[in-house]
Amino acid sequence: MAAPLTSSAIDTWKERFRGELIQPGDPPYNEARSIWNGMIDRRPAVIARCVGTHDVVQAILMAREHGAPVAVKGGGHNVAGNAVCDGGVVIDLSPMRWVHVDAKRKTARVGAGCLFGDLDHETQRYKLAVPGGIVSHTGVSGLTLGGGFGWISRKHGLSIDNLISADVVLADGTAVTASAGENPDLFWAIRGGGGNFGVVTSFLFKCARVGPEVFSGIIVHPVDSASEYLRFHRDYLATLGDETTVWAVIRHAPPLPFLPSNVHGRLVVVVPFVHLGSQASGKRVVKELQWKGTAHGEHVGMTPWVQWQSAFDALNAHGARNYWKSHHLTDLKDDCIDVILEHVQRFPTPSGEVFLPQMGGAPSRVPANATAYAFRSPKYIMNLHSRWADASDDAKCFTWARELWGETKPFAHGVYVNFISDEGEERVHDAYPKDVWEKLVKLKTKYDPTNFFRMNQNIRPQ
Ligand SMILES: Cc1cc2nc3c(=O)[nH]c(=O)nc-3n(C[C@H](O)[C@H](O)[C@H](O)COP(=O)(O)OP(=O)(O)OC[C@H]3O[C@@H](n4cnc5c(N)ncnc54)[C@H](O)[C@@H]3O)c2cc1C
Repeated sequence: MAAPLTSSAIDTWKERFRGELIQPGDPPYNEARSIWNGMIDRRPAVIARCVGTHDVVQAILMAREHGAPVAVKGGGHNVAGNAVCDGGVVIDLSPMRWVHVDAKRKTARVGAGCLFGDLDHETQRYKLAVPGGIVSHTGVSGLTLGGGFGWISRKHGLSIDNLISADVVLADGTAVTASAGENPDLFWAIRGGGGNFGVVTSFLFKCARVGPEVFSGIIVHPVDSASEYLRFHRDYLATLGDETTVWAVIRHAPPLPFLPSNVHGRLVVVVPFVHLGSQASGKRVVKELQWKGTAHGEHVGMTPWVQWQSAFDALNAHGARNYWKSHHLTDLKDDCIDVILEHVQRFPTPSGEVFLPQMGGAPSRVPANATAYAFRSPKYIMNLHSRWADASDDAKCFTWARELWGETKPFAHGVYVNFISDEGEERVHDAYPKDVWEKLVKLKTKYDPTNFFRMNQNIRPQ
């Protein structure tokens, strides 16, 4: 029987760490246990702020010795809240926030505590970028381990498609490298299988040539014409090459300076895009997206990549209560558009959103069995973001997202593991085709036979 992880037991581990061991009552405790989703309020026994691989190994050994549950925190952004646990050890990688760019080789080695903004800032010094998320305060770690897509993925692939290798600490405390040449089965599994197989301490990415400015922008259409616009949107997007990515977001208009003030707070269709081709060809895309010229407003032009990558940060600030439902859409069918537009009339709070990122492009040409992220053919993802401030709104926000999700299920096929809320183990299966799931279970059994890493979208060993 393991000795419990008491405060005095934790104190005995302190000299083996270079980072901090934060316990209840320590001044940084409350800040250190809080994550992006304000619904998550868990109280770990200790938060091990790891400064390097050695600390991660020690944190694993400490948890093992005391039979304590473990959570792994990269950027702390995941909506499910698995970055923090009750009563156990949080392996907090946030001090490992460094990026080394090799401009000659066009690669970036990235510490596991980095946020996407850190990576963009360092790579942009050399006009390079790694494909990834659209919000600069999202963690590189969790995003990459689930797959990772954003504005430049249709041209340059998912984050995992650009991953050359990763350093991983396994459940027994062994540190290994995963790449095409070393532990290739582990490398396959961590590219889409999430945090099930070990703690990644650093990633080596291939970089693409991007920026320093990209042709990008936002066009805001009235919701009254949304039914017709979204049908056009779907048909037009089907004609676009990989260098263009266009999303649609149905929400209440934020107070954007280019919108007339009487539009602020009204239901609208926001159409953000990035075009990696020439300005002239970008202008032709804009002309199409302006559609009938009835938009409420637009802001388009050349924008520094780093600035564009943080353009949506404020709308996704830390601390709000969040519940998401998501699935892949094989296409944006007419009936699906109708269902969505009926439900957006009943957003339970003003900051709810229906997000429709455009997928396809380069990721869809990678063979489905090349990585654990295997649902590569859907044309769209549909994310239902209910977001609110007051716990008394919990029930109505959950219900709204679940109802719209249920009614759009006939148009769906699979889900992105990184967009699953805390929805139970069965839902994790839906992120993987059957053969991929079976392979993941085998590899989980090989690399983590006791399910030591289970505070995640869990794949149980056999
Ligand atoms: C506002 C917002 C915008 C987003 N936009 C995008 C987007 O544009 N594209 C996209 O692909 N996704 C996007 N996501 C989803 C995002 O990919 C996931 O939330 C992802 O898990 C965030 O990673 P993190 O490191 O911040 O999360 P954490 O909450 O820290 O980690 C999530 C889980 O990953 C595992 N994990 C994290 N780090 C490690 C590690 N180093 N080793 C082993 N396991 C680890 C753990 O199991 C942990 O529970 C977005 C999320 C939010 C909230």
